[in-house]
Amino acid sequence: MESQESQLHFVLFPLMSPGHMLPMIDIATTLAQQNNIIVTIVTTPHNASRFSLTSHNIRLLQLQFPSQDAGFPEGCENFDMLPSMSMGYTFFSVANTLLQEPAEQAFEKLTPKPNCIISDVGFPYTSQIANKFDIPRISFYGITKAHPPSSSNDGNWKEFVDKMAAAEMVSYGVIVNSFEELEPEYASDLKKTRNSKVWCVGPVSLRNKNHLDMALRGKNNKVASSIDVENCFKWIDLQESNSVIYVCLGSICNLTSLQFIEIGMALEACERPFIWVIRERNQTEELNNWIKESSFEERIKEKGFLIKGWAPQVLILSHRAIAGFLTHCGWNSTLEAICAGVPMITWPLFGDQFFNERFVVEILRVGVMVGVESPVNWGEEEKTGVLVKKEDVERAIEKLMDDASYEKEERRKRAKDIAEMAKRCVEKGGSSHFNVSLLIQNILQLSTK
Ligand code: UDP
Repeated sequence: MESQESQLHFVLFPLMSPGHMLPMIDIATTLAQQNNIIVTIVTTPHNASRFSLTSHNIRLLQLQFPSQDAGFPEGCENFDMLPSMSMGYTFFSVANTLLQEPAEQAFEKLTPKPNCIISDVGFPYTSQIANKFDIPRISFYGITKAHPPSSSNDGNWKEFVDKMAAAEMVSYGVIVNSFEELEPEYASDLKKTRNSKVWCVGPVSLRNKNHLDMALRGKNNKVASSIDVENCFKWIDLQESNSVIYVCLGSICNLTSLQFIEIGMALEACERPFIWVIRERNQTEELNNWIKESSFEERIKEKGFLIKGWAPQVLILSHRAIAGFLTHCGWNSTLEAICAGVPMITWPLFGDQFFNERFVVEILRVGVMVGVESPVNWGEEEKTGVLVKKEDVERAIEKLMDDASYEKEERRKRAKDIAEMAKRCVEKGGSSHFNVSLLIQNILQLSTK
C-alpha cells in the first residue's frame, strides 16, 4: 500500500458555464484515475446536478449561490441560464465575490490538506485562497487565446479582467486543453512565458471512452432522460455512413430567432440529412411558433432530426453517419470534432471563436467558412439581426459535402489523420498522457519539499 504522504489532493474550481465545466470534469476524472490522487470539485448545487461522478476518488464541495440577492433570477447558477447575455459580464465578477468567503471557509475543513488548486482562469478569487493556504494555484485555460468577450465597455468587466490578469501573474502554471502536436508553436511560446510550467493535457473529452460516459456528459441528471435523444439515435442508425450534417452552435449561442429560422430553411432546402440542436435558451416564442406553424418537423421528418435541449455531442460526433459539423467554433466543440475526425463548417459567434475558425480553416484545413465577418456582441443581438442568409448556409454545406470535389476527400483524410494523432496523445506514451504525469510529479515534489 502506498503511504499517506504520497497521496495528493487537487481542488478544482470550474467556471459555471458548460464550455468551462465539462473539460474541468474531464480533467478531474483523468487525475482521479491516477494512483493515490483525490480530487475535490468546488461548485454550486445546480451545477453539481449536471454531472455524474464516476470515481470514488472525486468529491464534491457544494457552495450555495444566492443568485437572487445578486440580481439574477432565482436558481440561475450557470451562464447558460442567464436571461440575457448582457448579464454575462457581471455574472462572473459577482460569482467571484459571492463564492470567495464560503469557499475559503470550506477549504479550511478539507481533508487531507489540499496540495494544489486548479482554477478556471475566470476565477481569480482562488488566487487568494492559494496564497492563504500556501499551495500552488494552476490556471485552467478552457480556451486557447485569452480574450475578453467582444467590445464591452462595462466598467465591471474591465475591473474583472484586471483581477484575472493579476491572478495570472502569480499563478504557478497553466493547464491547457490542447495537445502539443496540434499547436507546437503556441505550446512552446507559452512555456517560454510561463517558466515551462505549462501542461497540455488534451483533448480532455477523449477520456469519455464508453457509450455511457459520452451519453451522460453534461446532461442534467435531474431532468428525465430525453426521448428526443433516444429517437435521434434510432434515426441516425438508419442513415448512411458519412452522410449527416450535425448542427450545434454551442451551449450559450446568442443568435436571433430570425437567424435560427434562416438556418432551419437552409437545412430543409439542402439535400443532406441533418441533426439540428436547439438549446433551451434559443427556444423563443418566435422560433417555436415558426417551427409549429410551418410544420417544420413534419416536413423534414424523413431527412432531419431536431434535438430540443441538450445533445450528447461527443457521442453524436463519434457516430459513423456524421459527415460534417456546423459549429460555432467554441474551443471544446472544435477539439471534439477534431477527435472524431469530422470536418467542420465554421460559424463563429464571438470572442476566441474567430481565431479558432482561422485555425480550423487555414492551418488545419479541415473546415469551410459559412462567411461570418462580425461578432454577435453580448446584449446587442437584436441589433445584429440576420448575419448569414439561407443561401450562404446551403452553399457552405454543399461545399463541405460535394462528392465531386477532390478537396472534400482531402479534407476528410486530414481530419482523420489529426484525429489519430489526438488519440495517440492521450494514450500511454503520448504527449498529453506524459504531461499529466509530469504535472503530478511536479506537485508531489513541491508538496514534499
Ligand atoms: N455541448 C453538448 N451538448 C449541447 C451543447 C453543447 O454536449 O447540446 C457541449 C459540447 O460538447 C462542448 C461544450 O458543451 O463540450 C460547449 O463548449 P464550447 O467550447 O464548444 O462552446 P461554448 O458553449 O462554451 O460556447
